[in-house]
Order: sequence, then C-alpha cells, then structure tokens
Amino acid sequence: MSQLKTVRGMRDFLPEEAKRMKYIEAKARRVAELYGYQEIITPVVESYELLAAKAGEEIRSRMFAFRDLGDRMVALRPEFTASVARIVATALKNEPKPLRLFSVGSVYRYDEPQKGRYREFWQSNYELMGSKKPEADAEIIMLTNSLMKSVGLRNCTFKIGHVGVLRGVMTEENLYEDTQNAVMQLMDKKQYDEAFKLVKDAKAKEKCVKTLKKLAELKGGGVFEIAERIKEYVKGYEKAEAAAENLYEILKLISESKSKIAAVVDAGFARGLEYYTGMIFEVTVPEIDIALGGGGRYDRLIELFGGEPTPAVGVAHGIDRIMLAMQTQKTPLEKKEERRVVVIPTKNEFIGRAMEISRMLRDADIPTEVEVMGRKIAKALEDADRRRIKYAVIIGEKELKEGSVVVRDLTKREQKTVEIEKVIEEIV
Ligand code: AMP
Repeated sequence: MSQLKTVRGMRDFLPEEAKRMKYIEAKARRVAELYGYQEIITPVVESYELLAAKAGEEIRSRMFAFRDLGDRMVALRPEFTASVARIVATALKNEPKPLRLFSVGSVYRYDEPQKGRYREFWQSNYELMGSKKPEADAEIIMLTNSLMKSVGLRNCTFKIGHVGVLRGVMTEENLYEDTQNAVMQLMDKKQYDEAFKLVKDAKAKEKCVKTLKKLAELKGGGVFEIAERIKEYVKGYEKAEAAAENLYEILKLISESKSKIAAVVDAGFARGLEYYTGMIFEVTVPEIDIALGGGGRYDRLIELFGGEPTPAVGVAHGIDRIMLAMQTQKTPLEKKEERRVVVIPTKNEFIGRAMEISRMLRDADIPTEVEVMGRKIAKALEDADRRRIKYAVIIGEKELKEGSVVVRDLTKREQKTVEIEKVIEEIV
C-alpha cells in the first residue's frame, strides 16, 4: 500500500534517530547561548513573494509553493534567512544593533533525494545583524566550528571565499548584476567554461576573463599566502582589492582567536545564493563530500525587504548532515545516565497506589513509567531490563501493609524494602 510509505524525500525519525536529532539541536541551542544569540520561532509557511525575493533561482525553482484556501500564494520555507530578515525589517526594526538571532527547525526544498539530500531537512541558523566588521564574519565561522566540535566531529575543514572579489572584478567591467549572478551560479557548480563564455559574451575585456580564470584556479590551505595572491591578482580592481583585504582581516582574526580551525581559501568559490555580498564559507568532513553547513555575508537583504540598510552575516547548518557525519565517524552521544524507574503493582488492586507512587517520583523529577500491561512481575522486570530502566518499585501486599514497597536496582540485581516516603532517597 503506497499510502503507508512516507512521501518521496520525507523521512520518519525513529526513537534513536530522533534522540540524535534533538541532541544536535540542543548543542546548537547551547552554542547560540554561548555566543549571545537569542532564539526566535518563525512560521514554516511564508508568502511566496517574500521567500522568492531572497532565494536565488536555484532554490526558487525548488520551493514547495502552493495556493492556500484563501487564494494566497505561499510556500514552505526553504531556509530561515528570509523570515529573519522580515522580522528585522519590521518587528525588531528599532532594536539596537548588533542583533544576534538563532532559529532551528525544518525547511523544505524539492531536491532530488539521495544520501544527505532530502526534501524536508533541519537547519540551525544564526544571523548577526548590524555589523559590517570582519569580527562579525570571524564570529560566524568560529561558532560553526564550536558546534562541530561540541557534537564531537573530527577533521572539519572550512572552505572560505569572498564573493566581493569576483563581483568586484565583474562590476568594474560593467557586467550587469543578472549576468554576474549567472556567472556565480555556474562557478558554484564548477562549470567554469560556461561561466567564462558568459563573461566574454558580455563584452568584458580579456583582462577580466583572465583574472577570473586565475582566481578560479587559486585555492589552498596556506590561507594567508592565498589571500595575498588574491590581492595581487585583482590589483587595479578597487572593489575586488578591498574585498581581498577584508578576507585577509577575517582570516587574521580567526587565527588570533587560536580556534584551531582548518581552512582552505578558494578564490573561485561562489555559493549559489545571489544575495551574498562578502565572505562566504562551507564546512565539510572528509568522510562526506557534501557541506554540513554554509553561510556568509549579505549586506543588502534587509534593505531589499524595506528595512534600514543593515549589514549582516549568517550561517545555516544542516542538522541531518551533521547526524550523518556523526554516524559515519561513529561519534558517541554524551551519555546523561537518567535514573529511570518502573512501578509495578503485584496485584491489580494496587494500581491506584502505583499511580500515586509514580506521580510522587515524577514530582521529584524522576522519569517514571507505570506497568500498564497488567503483566506478572517477572515479565514486567524482563521488559524493564530490556529497556535499560534502572529501578523497579514493586508494590507487594506484605510490604504495603507496613507502608513500604520493594525497590529493586536492576543493574546491581539487588533489592530492599523501603518506606514509601523514603523511596525517592533510594533512587540515585
Ligand atoms: P544553504 O541554505 O543552501 O546554504 O544550506 C545550508 C546547509 O543546509 C547545507 O550546508 C546543508 O548542510 C544543508 N542542506 C541544504 N540542502 C539540503 C538537503 N536537501 N538535505 C539536507 N540538508 C541540506
């Protein structure tokens, strides 16, 4: 029966997977706190126009868009930034800057499903609004590194570029923004020949094509050396020179923080999204060849949404892919051993007492289940063992007469009779 399967591109998260998802989400939330980002919750459904205004053609064509029953053209959010920018341009427009905002939740894109690529996936998203300084860019990269480290991932590498370099060259050659966008998109997909053909067709000078070609090939792990070479290559293109200098400063701050971030600078790196104006980056692990997160600077978006001109830099992490990377690297979850309890009445007539004692335990913040299947003690204990519950509180006739119950430690396989009022003290 096909209706019993999830829709293509959609997945269920069974308890173990759901636990890992929530674990990553909790780490992301903690990183937000550590860096001073406040959480906001925005709707999954937004106006199509709002989302389309921000998304590049790539994402625009893959949105889950539809008319609602009120004939509004809406879509499921393909990312968070448009929603955050809407809020900053409206409800939070008078808030003092900087604004540091965090969101986490599901996003939707009609991507071709494959490993690490789904149609519903989860992102943790951080936006730092109001600063155009390189320390803001450095902070976004550092917090991404903090998140990867805090979930236990090893050997993360950052690929860092700067769209201001490529755009700076093209702008001074008077290439239209549309052409620039198309070129950047082709470069993002590494279709360099097509990209350079577009530049030639736009009647740019030979020097421009040559410079772009040299930049496309320039990448490496000696980040300061590469950044210096970019500066050299773009000499004479004023805006591109400023961009290269900005990239250098960002790298310097990251280095001065002593964060131990492994980075590669890629001068031809051009993330698909059209709205980036400055530094851009992605983070990967060697085991998986797709990005676990990516972001960059977008200084014009808030203005595009009718807000005050507000420089901004942000990042979105793919929680599903972080989960995949953790599984591939066999990263264990930090174990918080919870002392879980099951309360088992030995007779049906004691179920009321079981309800009372379980309520009492939960009031004391102890996770407690009641035996609801009416099973005999041996069966109920076997089941509790299988589910790694630590304690059983057994309500027996003889003990109950004396106001007591049996508390059994299922790992030590020891038990003792305890007065009901003292049960909580026994559970440690
Ligand atoms: P983007 O908004 O395109 O910069 O994406 C940010 C992050 O979201 C990427 O680095 C991925 O980790 C994740 N991501 C993007 N598309 C998908 C997808 N179809 N399935 C799962 N994760 C995705």
